[in-house]
Order: sequence, then C-alpha cells, then structure tokens
Amino acid sequence: MHSEKRKAVFLDRDGVLNREMGNYVAHLEEFIINDGVIPALEIFSRKNYLLIVISNQGGIAKGLCTKEEVDYLHLHLERSLKLRGIVLSEIYYCPHYPEVTACICRKPGSLMLEKAIARFNIDAANSYFIGDADRDIEAGVKAGVQTIKVRSNQSLMEIVDRIR
Ligand SMILES: [Mg+2]
Ligand SMILES: [Zn+2]
Repeated sequence: MHSEKRKAVFLDRDGVLNREMGNYVAHLEEFIINDGVIPALEIFSRKNYLLIVISNQGGIAKGLCTKEEVDYLHLHLERSLKLRGIVLSEIYYCPHYPEVTACICRKPGSLMLEKAIARFNIDAANSYFIGDADRDIEAGVKAGVQTIKVRSNQSLMEIVDRIR
C-alpha cells in the first residue's frame, strides 16, 4: 500500500530537551525541561514533523541509574509535553556503554536513527537531528538527515528558523 513519507525532527535528550547536569540524570528533580523546548516543539509539530528522541543513556550500563528510572523520566517527559499538545512518536535510547556492554546502537552510531526512519517511513533528507554533541551530528550525517548542533541547554527557539 502506498503511504507517504513523513519528515521528522530527531532530538537528543540531555542538553537539548532537558538540562545537561554534567552527570547522568536519574531522578525527577534533576530532570528540568529547557527553556524554549515547548514552543519550539509546538512549531515543529505544526509543521508536521514527527518528534523522536535519540539518546545515549550509558549510565544504565555503568550502574549509575536503572532502566526503570530512565523509563520513568521518559514517561514524565511524554506526559509533560502531552499536556501542551505535543506528542513524541518514540524515545529511543541506548542503555549500553563501551567496555561494559558493547553495542551497535550507541551514538555516534546511527542504528537508533535508522530504526526510526524505517519504522515511521521517514524522509531522511528532509529531516533533522538536533544535538549538542559531535556524536549526535556524526550519527545524523550517517543516517542521511540534516543536522543542527546547538550549545548545551541553548534555547531551541534560537534555531527554529533553520527547520523549514
Ligand atoms: Mg546531549
Ligand atoms: Zn547500545
């Protein structure tokens, strides 16, 4: 069956959606949604972009936080955004860390992006990855999406115009 490709804005989590704390975020009180996130995601949604989070959470492999804690934070994030009418299509995260649990999903690998692109039938060339680390940009380039590097905790409202 024919189905039209969707475009997406892929988003790194720490330093983009929530405050980069300089260490692994495990608890709700450390999970602070950054200024500009809500209005920027509203604009992307209005422009018909799917919103998909792509995150490394190596703290799980290191035993610094549990998968349950990370899932709980993500539930909280999804609920907070939903109250504003913003829907995240999926949150992909890599729970691994090199030398603890080797994997092929951790950024700068592009596997999480490629999974999303296949599952949601995404037009990669007209999609974007917003990240605050070189490995985000590297992953985006490998997956064939456009990339936007922001400073950690920079307001996404400063870059909304780069997404048509
Ligand atoms: Mg980050
Ligand atoms: Zn992984």
